[in-house]
Amino acid sequence: NYESKVTIVGSGNWGSVASKLIASNTLRLSSFHDEVRMWVYEEILPSGEKLTDVINSTNENVKYLPGIKLGKNVVADPDLENAVKDANMLVFVTPHQFMEGICRKLVGKINGDVQAISLIKGMEVKMEGPCMISSLISEQLGINCCVLMGANIANEIAVEKFSEATVGYRENREIAEKWVQLFSTSYFLVTAVQDVEGVELCGTLKNVVALAAGFVDGLEMGNNTKAAIMRIGLREMKAFSKLLFSSVKDTTFFESCGVADLITTCLGGRNRKVAEAFAKNGGKRSFDELEAEMLQGQKLQGVSTAREVYEVLGHRGWLELFPLFATVHEICIGRLPPSAIVEHSERKPRFE
Ligand code: NAD
Ligand code: 13P
Repeated sequence: NYESKVTIVGSGNWGSVASKLIASNTLRLSSFHDEVRMWVYEEILPSGEKLTDVINSTNENVKYLPGIKLGKNVVADPDLENAVKDANMLVFVTPHQFMEGICRKLVGKINGDVQAISLIKGMEVKMEGPCMISSLISEQLGINCCVLMGANIANEIAVEKFSEATVGYRENREIAEKWVQLFSTSYFLVTAVQDVEGVELCGTLKNVVALAAGFVDGLEMGNNTKAAIMRIGLREMKAFSKLLFSSVKDTTFFESCGVADLITTCLGGRNRKVAEAFAKNGGKRSFDELEAEMLQGQKLQGVSTAREVYEVLGHRGWLELFPLFATVHEICIGRLPPSAIVEHSERKPRFE
């Protein structure tokens, strides 16, 4: 009677909702151990209390997901090593910029027989080239890592509004099915596809397009312009993904992780919201400043992803092939004004 033990590494806005989804299933399904550990990056709240203590006494992440009960079987743990030590299923869900440091701390600290999944939208760029977060986890920790991405604005799933998600897996369909089981609820419908890179690149790259959509909103350019930017962005997402990994499948872009996530993020995401404010201020206030003011500790992924994508484009001589991606970064760093998003993205008539 072997029960899988789940630990969630991360406890932000989506991390907390993921804990809620998972905790409801571990109680219901006999193949999982009831208790779910959630590693919390400890912080002291304005009240002077530790966030971990407050989560454990109120069953709510009062900072990143206020008003939502996580489930009594969720245990917040500020000690990373302790949180993972007995787990054989690890769910990674932190802002992507913290993952290199987290992996470094976990080397040699996890059980041999562990499966991982990454819900993290982002990449790292190294001397050798781009490295997706699932590969970072796999390579640093020597474990298999699936991904879960989708049209998943966390606050909507927290109140149990229906949405879909996509699990990407490499070879082992049985493992993918186990992840699907762990996440699926009546309001969260998960589908598995054999395309880790495609799923993860969709989730990562749409954050760059969401910044472009936010600039368009800030400049009050209207729905047709925004739709055009989303279409051009989707084309660049597909072209970039396929240039990096020839295995990426066209059909992946029609899953929740593809066009659906692009739409929801361009309509209601944090990247869109902060980019709108950036454009409204004519690019005079930095993203860091706006993020701190508007998101109360939550983190944007699009600005660093735009820089990372730009580095890859520069190294490979692809800048001219991806005018939207390149322009988003140049706007973020103040080299171009927000209005350049329309002027510099695809403007020549095409004959296809
Ligand atoms: P978030 O934006 O709420 O980020 C805040 C988290 O980062 C907090 O848990 C905070 O404690 C932690 N943190 C701050 N400094 C840290 C440090 N130095 N080291 C480690 N952790 C630190 O996080 P989130 O919304 O859970 O996002 C995590 C990932 O999930 C991202 O890649 C995001 O793109 C993705 N995602 C988010 C949503 C969403 O709606 N929020 C939906 C789908 C996917
Ligand atoms: P934001 O980080 O822009 O809020 O996007 C959330 C998301 O990834 C929805 O699927």
